[in-house]
Amino acid sequence: MSEFVLSIHGLRRTYKSGDKTLTVLNGVDLDVAPGEIVGLVGPSGSGKSSLLHAAGLLEHPDAGRIVVEGRDCSDLSDRQRTRVRLATIGFVYQAHHLLAEFSALDNVALPQMIAGRSRKAARERAMTLLSELGLAERAHHQPAQMSGGEQQRVAIARALANAPRLLLADEPTGNLDPATSAAVFDNLYDLARRQGVAALVATHNLELARHMDRVVTLKDGHLEPWRPEALDLPAGT
Ligand code: ADP
Ligand code: MG
Repeated sequence: MSEFVLSIHGLRRTYKSGDKTLTVLNGVDLDVAPGEIVGLVGPSGSGKSSLLHAAGLLEHPDAGRIVVEGRDCSDLSDRQRTRVRLATIGFVYQAHHLLAEFSALDNVALPQMIAGRSRKAARERAMTLLSELGLAERAHHQPAQMSGGEQQRVAIARALANAPRLLLADEPTGNLDPATSAAVFDNLYDLARRQGVAALVATHNLELARHMDRVVTLKDGHLEPWRPEALDLPAGT
């Protein structure tokens, strides 16, 4: 087995609009070690979401290889990719995408039941995760009855529900005010750390990024190590 939870080799992603081709990712290479929490920064439009969706096996890249826990997923069928995703990967979106008609508890329990866990066991684990995120009192609320920060915490609990080895988060605090954003980010970081998952977390908030184990930046379609001077950029860019 590979020593990395996620390895990306030569990833290329283009989008066609009319007769124009936009090359967004052009040779992305990245290795994420077990338990490592990596920040992904880059301005809006630099390709962070494209990279995360490819890494999460949600989209097919034009070229390159995505290796998850030593398994090359590039040529898997959609059904096989879904299985890898369910067993190994948790995803947090910028907008929470919670199911509106279900409680927080059930939103976190459902993916576990889809993965084969009993309803009772799934709800117990959901309650544990929600409690760890300070949401025990909100477990029976529906998303609309919760604040933005609480909703994102539920989305984090849901992403970690099946004990993934890899957590992918796409600007998970991007819709929150700065104070809430920092708190939710701390929750995500602490819980990911305690669960021992490897994580790749996109953010354009450099203040948040500096708490990561390591930060990479997307530039001209490929990744570069983040330069400390970048800290001098104005916050919130
Ligand atoms: P980021 O997440 O860093 O903001 P994205 O990966 O969403 O960047 O987008 C990178 C570039 O690709 C942007 O210029 C965006 O407009 C373009 N893009 C993203 N998705 C599509 C799509 N489905 N069709 C065409 N262009 C797209
Ligand atoms: Mg994005």
